[in-house]
Amino acid sequence: MRVAVFSSKPYDEKFLTKAAEGTDHELTFFEARLDRSTASLADGYDVVCAFVNDDLGAATLLRLARAEPKLIALRSAGFNHVDLDAAKSLDLTIVRVPAYSPRSVAEHTVALMLALDRKIHRAHARVREGNLSLDGLLGFDLGSRTVGVVGTGKIGVEVARILKGFGCDLIGYDVFENPDAIALGLEYVELKELWERADVVTLHAPLTPETHHIVDAFAIANMKDGVMVINTSRGALIDTAAAIEGLKSGKIGHLGLDVYEEEGDLFFEDLSDTVIQDDMFSRLLTFPNVLITGHQAFFTVEALEAIAHDTIANISAFAEGRKSGNEL
Ligand code: NAD
Repeated sequence: MRVAVFSSKPYDEKFLTKAAEGTDHELTFFEARLDRSTASLADGYDVVCAFVNDDLGAATLLRLARAEPKLIALRSAGFNHVDLDAAKSLDLTIVRVPAYSPRSVAEHTVALMLALDRKIHRAHARVREGNLSLDGLLGFDLGSRTVGVVGTGKIGVEVARILKGFGCDLIGYDVFENPDAIALGLEYVELKELWERADVVTLHAPLTPETHHIVDAFAIANMKDGVMVINTSRGALIDTAAAIEGLKSGKIGHLGLDVYEEEGDLFFEDLSDTVIQDDMFSRLLTFPNVLITGHQAFFTVEALEAIAHDTIANISAFAEGRKSGNEL
């Protein structure tokens, strides 16, 4: 099949090309993000391959459907950027990679927790300047704390598994209880109780209308003073304005983000020579107790191999008229 790969970076090209060896799929890599204005690049292709910040809203899908692509293959687990109703009405098949490496995201989540707790980002900068003072670097023993996991699916459970090894008390909230989480000793509680009891809140629910701004001013007000909040799921789980107020008042003691509500215009690009226009994002960067990474939690060799393998397998299944099981 002829595949138009959008939001393509050199690493996508490397891993997808390798995964496609031995198939007759022809991959063309476009650096452009997919949206209604770039959708015409996919004219003449059978498959559109898209990533997390591509815009698969109704207008884009309508434009894509005009050229009759047969399949839209997401290189992501999350699909909050796809208008599923529009896709259905346009008869577009959408596939995703539901579980490429929960461990990659879970390990990055714990990396953010530890780096914030022990102030590794600040210590690194200080030591390079020849400043070996410890003032301001006081941390806490993570293993003696209670961690609240919101969304105990594949990634949430993997986070719980790692933190159990640290000795943390684990509480969780989900719309479904996961036996794997219970087996790890995680206690399910109502959301308000989780806010009240957790020293560290970590978000692993998908972005849906129900989880949009699940961490808002009300939630933050119910949290412990000095709480650590970590989000490696999707940016809009947190109301950024409310988080900034929480940081200013000291209610939030640490904030670790791999995702940001308005990341679409920022992430995955080198903006070091430009003036960032997003004032909220710029404000976040000024706090010493905020650590932001640019949606890199998935970014391990194992995860990229799995994403590429599963994406090509999804396309092959479709080409052969089979279901991959990854259809939305
Ligand atoms: P999953 O489907 O295995 O788990 C999600 C869990 O959230 C499920 O248990 C589900 O029941 C729960 N959930 C759904 N609605 C909820 C609600 N209203 N309140 C509480 N819980 C709710 O998904 P996963 O593989 O664990 O991935 C979780 C999220 O991580 C994805 O949706 C994606 O947005 C994000 N993600 C981020 C990266 C990254 O690089 N930062 C990479 C992969 C996935």
